Amino acid sequence: MERGEVERSLSDAADRLRKPWERRVAVLRIAADLGLEVVLAFHDSLRLGGTRIQLEQRPPRILLYRTGATPGEKLLTAADEWRLTPRERFSVAHEIGHWIVSEQLGVPPAETSRDYWRQEEWVNSFAGCLLVPERLIKTWLAAIPETKPVPPIGLWRMATRELRVSQEVLARVIVRVRPATAFLKLIYFVRRRDAYPILKVQFSTGSLISTPVRGTHLADPDLQAILKTQDMGQASLRGFVIGKCPPQNITLAWRRSGPADMKESKDTVYWLALAPSPKDPDTSSTGQTLFDTACL
Ligand SMILES: [Zn+2]
Repeated sequence: MERGEVERSLSDAADRLRKPWERRVAVLRIAADLGLEVVLAFHDSLRLGGTRIQLEQRPPRILLYRTGATPGEKLLTAADEWRLTPRERFSVAHEIGHWIVSEQLGVPPAETSRDYWRQEEWVNSFAGCLLVPERLIKTWLAAIPETKPVPPIGLWRMATRELRVSQEVLARVIVRVRPATAFLKLIYFVRRRDAYPILKVQFSTGSLISTPVRGTHLADPDLQAILKTQDMGQASLRGFVIGKCPPQNITLAWRRSGPADMKESKDTVYWLALAPSPKDPDTSSTGQTLFDTACL
């Protein structure tokens, strides 16, 4: 099967498996419909973790590992959806993706690390498609002008209250639906060697807007000064440089969570949403595209 064909088949499968009116997609119901067992596996070892699927079992089993004082297993039914965290819901959707790739699309198990990561990319994208109905997101975004960032509080509310997914999963879908937008999650910390305050990129997604990759350390005092002004805000920035990205004209919206009184600590987290500023007549007349450079 061609690569593009697999991706299309997975996206079609996500649309078929979800009920058209579903907001909080019931992954345990979908697993049951496909004849898959989902088991909470408690263990007392910190080394075990995450999720895996036993494709060779009949019925195939998805194991969700959790740390617990007493090792044991609990078979989950569709009525147990509330027991799962957003992360576990994503993990179940991810493993359902592996089952579809293997059993329905007939793709053999990965033998090289390149194939492995390609399959991981497929099933992560499938899980996003399954848990975040694109039609719902398009309707939601229709109320937000293209030149305005998605309000970070709206991202949080839609992810946690409406869809029960992580903000990261929702942010990726938003960027797929609206490429001229971007999101960053930054964590505050103080660099040990010189006690300098740093914002570390913990998550980043963008398409037409350049964003620094995960792990980048941002030491820009101007950005920190903007973000420190209030818990939530918005600013239009001309020639804004973030990390090693080229200068961009953008509107930035942010939301801060962490200790009260605007004191910075290791628990301070910023979610940033970016949108292109309305085009400036001076720059558009040069024929330059503002957002044409991928940033690595
Ligand atoms: Zn996987």
